[in-house]
Amino acid sequence: MLARAITLIESSRPDHQAMAQALVNRLMPDSGRSMRIGITGVPGVGKSAFIEALGCKLTAAGHRVAVLSIDPSSVRSGGSVLGDKARMMKLSADPNAFIRPSPSGSVLGGIARKTRETMLLCEAAGYDVMIIETVGVGQSEVAVATMTDVVLVLMLAGAGDELQGIKRGLLEQADMVVITKADGANVTNAALAASQYRFAMGLLHDPHDLPAVMICSALELTGLDEIWTTIAERVRAADASGGLQARRAEQATAWMWALVEQKVRETLRQTESIHAIAENAEQQVRGGTMSPVFGADAIVEALRLSGVSPSA
Ligand code: GDP
Repeated sequence: MLARAITLIESSRPDHQAMAQALVNRLMPDSGRSMRIGITGVPGVGKSAFIEALGCKLTAAGHRVAVLSIDPSSVRSGGSVLGDKARMMKLSADPNAFIRPSPSGSVLGGIARKTRETMLLCEAAGYDVMIIETVGVGQSEVAVATMTDVVLVLMLAGAGDELQGIKRGLLEQADMVVITKADGANVTNAALAASQYRFAMGLLHDPHDLPAVMICSALELTGLDEIWTTIAERVRAADASGGLQARRAEQATAWMWALVEQKVRETLRQTESIHAIAENAEQQVRGGTMSPVFGADAIVEALRLSGVSPSA
């Protein structure tokens, strides 16, 4: 039933979409009762090994775990960083786990939207731990942060440039940082990296809300209990203080407005009378004969006069 409902969500047929939205709306009261955990990191950092190790621990402890992916590579290339290889074989076979590869799509916002709706369905189906996974290489880690209660950023030890480029963007999203592959000869490096990241966190984050920095090995299954305890404590504390409800309320309203913007844009594109005006404005703005403000006003006025209501 869950898989069929998700297929409905992922379909782009208008009649399927109408049914899907009705379904999600009806299930709203039954959603929201999970811990929503975002997991991100560069390819090869060990996300799937970590999720498999943590997920198996959690199902053994009686949790029901759902794992959803947002794969931004499918947006750019039609290929997939996350989906091509066989991932999380053991967790996939676990009856108390549900793993759904990301839907393909041409827009990150569209994939993220489907992931968000799928998350609500999984919650209504009784999964109490939701893991939303993404490759941290740009905007997708931001998308994950807008739909989860806590974001874990996975990092490798010994790369040495902790505050640069991609890493900085990633670390800004972090509620927790986890140094992976702390096993064998890498243990000392991992401990060193952890202290460097603790320092870096002090520069990037509010001193009253510093992300925890922890180390683990998915291979040797070390550090996972501590990480889970920290996640659970964080979410419990946020729940008790009202911060969790505030964060989710903020996420839900931001999502609504993002959808409004998307639908208005869609309407603009689809309405013939506006189309001509928009094209003309765009050409003139491009050519420097019309100011962008003037062009925007002309398009919005055309929308107002058209009387068209945004498409579903
Ligand atoms: P992902 O691309 O982030 O999902 O990374 P994977 O989980 O596929 O891991 C990338 C590589 O690192 C694989 O070859 C794993 O076997 C290896 N790996 C993952 N976790 C660990 C670990 O805890 N210790 C060691 N030594 N290797 C690991």
